[in-house]
Amino acid sequence: MTETSISTKGSNWGYAPSPESADHFKLKDQYGLFIGGKFVPAGSGKRFATINPANEKTLAQIADAGEKDVDKAVKAARIAYEKVWRKMPGRERGKYLYRIARIIQERARELAVVESMDGGKPIRESRDVDIPLAAAHFFYHAGWADKLGYAFPGRSANPIGVAGQIIPWNFPLLMVAWKVAPALACGNTVVLKPAETTPLTALLFAEICQEAGLPDGVFNCITGAGSTGAALVNHPGLDKVAFTGSTDVGKAIQKSLAGRSTKLTLELGGKAANIIFEDAAIDQAVEGIINGIFFNQGHVCCAGSRLLVQESVEQEVVEKLKARMEHLIVGDPLDKNTDIGAINSKAQCERIRDYLKVGQDEGAELFQTKCSVPEKGYWVRPSFFTKVAQSHRIVQEEIFGPVLAIQSFRTLDEALEKANNTPYGLSGGVWTDKGAKIFKVTRGIKAGVIWANTFNKFDPSSPFGGYKESGYGREGGRHGLRPYVELS
Ligand code: NDP
Repeated sequence: MTETSISTKGSNWGYAPSPESADHFKLKDQYGLFIGGKFVPAGSGKRFATINPANEKTLAQIADAGEKDVDKAVKAARIAYEKVWRKMPGRERGKYLYRIARIIQERARELAVVESMDGGKPIRESRDVDIPLAAAHFFYHAGWADKLGYAFPGRSANPIGVAGQIIPWNFPLLMVAWKVAPALACGNTVVLKPAETTPLTALLFAEICQEAGLPDGVFNCITGAGSTGAALVNHPGLDKVAFTGSTDVGKAIQKSLAGRSTKLTLELGGKAANIIFEDAAIDQAVEGIINGIFFNQGHVCCAGSRLLVQESVEQEVVEKLKARMEHLIVGDPLDKNTDIGAINSKAQCERIRDYLKVGQDEGAELFQTKCSVPEKGYWVRPSFFTKVAQSHRIVQEEIFGPVLAIQSFRTLDEALEKANNTPYGLSGGVWTDKGAKIFKVTRGIKAGVIWANTFNKFDPSSPFGGYKESGYGREGGRHGLRPYVELS
């Protein structure tokens, strides 16, 4: 293994490799669908490979679910709902959620390594963010299971029924937790469709449900590509659909549910403005920019992908940002030194590279760090654009990669105008040492989550969700329970 070198002015810091081992667990060669509490092959016998995006090696073969499999899963969830789960007292449901949370903690190391191998994210992030937060969501919702009466005082909260849940590839296990924990806590049963490129931790989660003794059929997992997701959405046996992913697919789902009584929540894309005022603590703000756009390779719906910096400090911020970016280590996701891992898939890598070209063709100026990247696998060096116009596609569209668009502003009103000039409304950030300014900005930006002097902070008790083309419905907190209950 080679040493990772980072050159700084006048010095050369070397980091010895520090790889997390992957020999403390064994992945199976093949994984079936999880239906009615058992792993079963797809009816068609078809499978697809899930690969490690950092080296393009196959990790396992995964069952490819068709319409008949989807039907079986929905029926298993319906039986479990009618016969067991909806009737179970909340305090008993809560015990299962607590068990699941504790088993996630017990298997945390394995889950973190598998998450990094299947999705490409740095082990530091899967170990310190994804997996602990996934456990925290189950602990949090376990607590609500017998207290729904307090969440909706004076009303009676009843489950909705069977929920079809479709999740993306950027936070695979964490999205399982965001979706499954509130659904089960409120007495619903679930059919989950993880993303084609990252099915493994959802399948390990199915094992965890078995280990926790969760009644058969309460949680079902069907793997496959977009057509499996479409078959799930179109199944007439669902009472609720929850989707996280691209705005285009979200709109298609909304259309296919039109005229049906199936409830829907959508958590879609974003193009957040991260606003730096001249009175901000600049070094701290630069760290916030880095975290905002380079966390999880920028595969984050709430990423701070548009930097709005006050003109008087623009040059200083851009220079400091360049210097800081040159220190980012890009490479092996399992190395604990790594800051930026592999791009999740070949398709996503090509998409990001297309945007890098689009930005330059539009006349923007591209900066990329000089770091080397491995030959095999999918990689994009940390990048930003300056000299961008509000109308540029790289400012308007979600790139979902480590690519930042930098614009300047002079007044607070101009910053707000630019921040809101987007079809999205998921998140935002503000950096200033003036409390009053924080309140003005947070009131002025039309977005579901706005961070002040920090970025990308998540907590199960805090609701998350968007406005406009970023979707509707909330996940987390008391608000996140509402989409999973009927109130009477
Ligand atoms: P998608 O929206 O296609 O994927 C999200 C999930 O929906 C996946 O499980 C996917 O399956 C499934 N899916 C795909 N098509 C359908 C359908 N017609 N009906 C039901 N489910 C479907 O995102 P992509 O993976 O294609 O990524 C494209 C872009 O979307 C990214 O570049 C990014 O901009 C954005 N995105 C945003 C996310 C967010 O959290 N806001 C998350 C992911 C992507 P499968 O992946 O197996 O095909």
